[in-house]
Parts: sequence; structure tokens; C-alpha cells
Amino acid sequence: MYADLHLHTNFSDGTFTPEELVEHGERVGLQVMSLTDHDTVNGCARMAVACEECGMEFIPGCEFSVEHDGDELHILGYFIDPGASILLDELAKHQGARLNRIHEMVERLNSNGVNISSKDVMEIANCDSPGRPHIGHALVNSGHCRSLDESFRKWLKKGRPAWVPKMKMTAVDAIELIHEVGGLAVIAHPGLYHRDEVIPPLAKVGLDGIECFYTRHSTSMTEHYLMLAEEYDLLVTGGSDCHGRNKGRPLIGGVKLPYEYVIKMKSAVAI
Ligand code: AMP
Ligand code: FE
Ligand code: FE
Ligand code: ZN
Repeated sequence: MYADLHLHTNFSDGTFTPEELVEHGERVGLQVMSLTDHDTVNGCARMAVACEECGMEFIPGCEFSVEHDGDELHILGYFIDPGASILLDELAKHQGARLNRIHEMVERLNSNGVNISSKDVMEIANCDSPGRPHIGHALVNSGHCRSLDESFRKWLKKGRPAWVPKMKMTAVDAIELIHEVGGLAVIAHPGLYHRDEVIPPLAKVGLDGIECFYTRHSTSMTEHYLMLAEEYDLLVTGGSDCHGRNKGRPLIGGVKLPYEYVIKMKSAVAI
């Protein structure tokens, strides 16, 4: 039995609906899926129904962007209660800030002679958690960029003319919130940060796990994070970070986490 515990839908910046995502999950031979949209749990209800209908096990999740020592890190929350009001209140703040950020980024594009509107972007986003990929698609659709990748390189990446920082919780607050709503807090794709020194202090404040298996982790990186998980007594998770068709072929199932790790997560939640 295999799991993919890092997946996005069109409730944030993925292109698949929850139903389509589950269909793909079945096709690539998964038995467990988690939905980890950015700053929203609004896709979880439909994802749960779609999973139930085909006998797939579902773990509700969310991906939080946090700030730690001046860097952006991503923290995944698993087994969180998607109906908890403290969670929904916090996420609503981030969703509001995301919408303001779209307006600011579009203004920057406009003052650089690129004429797209927030309305164009929000029609593409059509969700509560709009982000840079939606602006990227608007830039491609309007002929200003040839690809999503070019839109990031030219305009949207940190340091490029349209970039605006995102509202972020501290890592400690995110871990606390995840625990308050019954979940496990996991550091996402640590191999992308080159900041392993953040792991021991986060483990001290309650981090529960490390995403060791990840699309862009090499075999040696995965082995390295498996060792760190062992050393700091942290759970091991894994997922593809599939965003649908945003970046060519869907990544779903490219990472297959053995079920034994899911069992360990469930035992940790039950404590
Ligand atoms: P945001 O949440 O608005 O800061 O946007 C971050 C999201 O943009 C990430 O979760 C990725 O899905 C996506 N992203 C980052 N870099 C690129 C890139 N070079 N090309 C396409 N998508 C990207
Ligand atoms: Fe994303
Ligand atoms: Fe991430
Ligand atoms: Zn992600």
C-alpha cells in the first residue's frame, strides 16, 4: 500500500479538481492521499467524498507558508480538523492577504507596462487562495509570457519587478495551531531550503515530522533526511507536490510513501 501526502487542487494553485486528483491517484496505484492546498482546507470535504467513493484513505491537510529566521519555509499540517474555527479564522486572514497581494502584484505589472487586471487573474484563480501561478497563467494567456516558468523568471520570482512578499505566520505559531486542531506538523521539502540547522530547534518546539520523500529530493538527500528523522525522533512523510498540469506531466504518484509510515503517523495522532 502506498500514499502520496503532498497534493494540490484548484482550491489553491493546482489545476485538478479534487475528483480529478482522486481519479489520477487511483490510476497510479495509490491507496492513501492527503490534500495539502496552500492556505486553505476548502477542498478537503469534496476530496473526502471522492476518496470514500473509491475506497481510498484520505488524510485532511494544509500547507502553511511560514517565516523562520528571515526565510520562508513550508509546514504541512496533517490530520487537522478542516472545520475547526481557529484554523478557518487564521486561514481567512491569509486568504485576504493573498487577494491584496494579487492587487499589488498586478499594480506592479501595470506600472511596468504589462496590462493585465486583477479581474483576469481572479477569473483564472477562481478560488479563495490565489497565488503567483494564477498571475503567471494570466501573463501566458495574454501573450506577455511564453510559459509559466518564464513568468516566474521575468516577473514573479523573489527579487523580480512584480514580486510582493506573502503574509506568513511564524513557524512556532503554525506548529501550535496545527496541534490545537488535532494535527501533526511536518517540515515540507527540506532539501529545497539548504537550511537543515532549522530542524533541531523546530523539533524542540513540537515539529512532528520531516518530508523525507519528495519529488525533488535525490536519493542521497532522502537518506540524509531519514537519518535526521531518526536522530531527532521525528516522523517520516512523503509526497509528490503535484500541482496538476502546471508543470507538464502530473507528478502524482511519482513519490510513493510506504504505508508503514502512515501507520506511524496515525499512532502519533492518537496519542
Ligand atoms: P505563492 O504561494 O503565491 O508565493 O506562489 C508559490 C507557488 O508558485 C508554489 O507553490 C509553486 O506552486 C509555484 N511556483 C514557484 N516557482 C515556480 C516556477 N518557477 N514555475 C511555476 N510555478 C512556480
Ligand atoms: Fe503551489
Ligand atoms: Fe511547498
Ligand atoms: Zn506544495
